[in-house]
Amino acid sequence: MKVERNKVVFIHYSLADEAGNPVEDNFDDEPTALLMGHGNMMRGLESALTGREAGEAFEVTLKPEDAYGAKRADQLQRVSKKHFAQPKKLRVGDQAVLRTEQGQRTVTIIKVGSKFVDVDLNHPLAGQTVHFKVNIVRVRDAMPVELSHGHAHADGKDHH
Ligand code: ZN
Repeated sequence: MKVERNKVVFIHYSLADEAGNPVEDNFDDEPTALLMGHGNMMRGLESALTGREAGEAFEVTLKPEDAYGAKRADQLQRVSKKHFAQPKKLRVGDQAVLRTEQGQRTVTIIKVGSKFVDVDLNHPLAGQTVHFKVNIVRVRDAMPVELSHGHAHADGKDHH
């Protein structure tokens, strides 16, 4: 069965940044389930998966526009220190978790003042060419409930 729109693909993958440094991988965990054709993953990865089959392994290098997007200058913001869980531990260049009304968000610390912190809201990999290694573990048809929700249910169940 080929990977295509409205199939669920299970992958093991590793992700490295532009310099080749490992960022994350799930080879020791359950494979990640992704519903094809519903915007569940970055565009470049989806197109690299399309047409392949279970058991295939491949590597793909993605330009920023096909991965995490360009780095945007309008993503710099000044926020109060109280929005951070550990305001005393903030260091320039570090990534920290900012608590927002929309939930938690990882930001990069640009400048630390006495009450305020300048942060970069860009994804840490924005503007970078990234490298994926992917093993396709399994492919199956999407269930109707997955198509109506627009995402995969990794356990194959109707509810979550
Ligand atoms: Zn769902």
